[in-house]
Amino acid sequence: MSNVTMDKIVNLCKQRGIIFQGSEIYGGMGNTWDYGPVGVEIKNNIKRAWWKRFVQEDPNTYGVDAAILMNPRVWDASGHTQNFSDPKMDCKSCKQRFRADNLIEDHSKGKVSAEAMTNEQMEEYINENKVKCPHCGNFNWTNIRQFKLMFETSRGTLDGEKDVVYLRPETCQGEYVNFLNVQRSMRAKVPFAIAQIGKSFRNEITPGNFIFRTIEFEQMELQMFCKEGDGFNIYDSYKERARQFLLDINFSEDHLKFHDHDKLAFYAKAACDIFYLFPMGWSELNGIHHRSTHDLSRHQEFSGKSMAYLDPVTNEKYIPTVIEYSIGADRLMLAVLTEAYHEETLENGESRVVMKFHPAIAPYKVAVLPLQKNINEKAIELYQKLCKKFPCIYDEAGSIGKRYRRQDEIGVPFSVTIDFDTLEDNTVTVRDRDTMEQIRIHVDELEKYIEERIQFN
Ligand code: ATP
Repeated sequence: MSNVTMDKIVNLCKQRGIIFQGSEIYGGMGNTWDYGPVGVEIKNNIKRAWWKRFVQEDPNTYGVDAAILMNPRVWDASGHTQNFSDPKMDCKSCKQRFRADNLIEDHSKGKVSAEAMTNEQMEEYINENKVKCPHCGNFNWTNIRQFKLMFETSRGTLDGEKDVVYLRPETCQGEYVNFLNVQRSMRAKVPFAIAQIGKSFRNEITPGNFIFRTIEFEQMELQMFCKEGDGFNIYDSYKERARQFLLDINFSEDHLKFHDHDKLAFYAKAACDIFYLFPMGWSELNGIHHRSTHDLSRHQEFSGKSMAYLDPVTNEKYIPTVIEYSIGADRLMLAVLTEAYHEETLENGESRVVMKFHPAIAPYKVAVLPLQKNINEKAIELYQKLCKKFPCIYDEAGSIGKRYRRQDEIGVPFSVTIDFDTLEDNTVTVRDRDTMEQIRIHVDELEKYIEERIQFN
């Protein structure tokens, strides 16, 4: 993450087909972003790596893909219809809207946490410290009001009659409501987890920092159902597994830290985030929560259906405790981009930007580059063979130096050059993105050479 700033990342993303502003030709739609051809590959690889680690490789975790629109009673049971709101303040001078807790945390440069403060305490702090509007610099605030974060839409059933439904603000309710379906159909024994990757929607007061906080985003999360007595051990193990996953996709240890919550929800037994050193500073990347039996108990109460699990060995009947691990795919994408970004000065004095993604996360594994256009037939043939195995990119435009730079900027780990010797002896040059070293190998060895170097284990 050498010399990285948010502007550099946003510009690179636009120039290189990673992420574009949403609805750009209409002037955009605030805080929505579209993934381009390169970005969608990176994000899919992030999701694949996460799913492989937490679902595929764990015999006690089962995946689901639940509906975004759920019976509105789900949100009564979860408490969202009553409580899912943030404390908002408007600047009366410039009409910009802010979260009061963020104003305090930014003003104190992270030294004061507003997590445990009441609205009155936050207003008091802001008034005593004369916290100014970050946009216009004035001190002219409205009182704090609670701002609802759920997007509402409606479903017409009869002419003139409409039922309110919500775009889900979190994916986990899809796991809770399917707890018994999964347990019975898969003959799962507690402890087991249900995992999901899917879209969530929040009418955030202050979205921003590129894809860090948006109104539509993807979550990758799992809910582990366990016996109450096992809760803390499982909670600790997920803290470590969540951290290890990040280290294994090339995060530096120095850029990660645990942050325990100052204030717990009344039902929670423990809660902690992993913070990452984003370009704008340390911020939450993911959360791990010990949620006690709260979620299943509430669904039992509101649905009238028993959520109890019958232990087949002890015959004990109980409502399982839930340990939740949740990470935003887009927020992780921003962290991955930040971590991968490097500016380097080369021996010849030129500079390059290189995205040092883990090869499993890289959008394409190989770039196929004919040294000259008149040998492109052989190169196209090789490209067509390789892209059946892994995502590849073909580039014949411009000098070879420029083409290497382009591949570096989107983090392609291997560039394969076809030259006149290839036509004679079927060997190619393979250039390593990070070391820039080049080796000569036979085309028949190429697939194996690359395959061995792009695995995520
Ligand atoms: P924050 O405090 O940043 O609002 P949160 O504590 O409300 O986040 P959770 O509800 O625990 O977040 O959601 C789990 C994860 O989902 C977060 O750690 C983050 O990675 C991601 N996430 C939450 N809200 C957003 C958002 N508006 N945009 C992008 N990702 C988000």
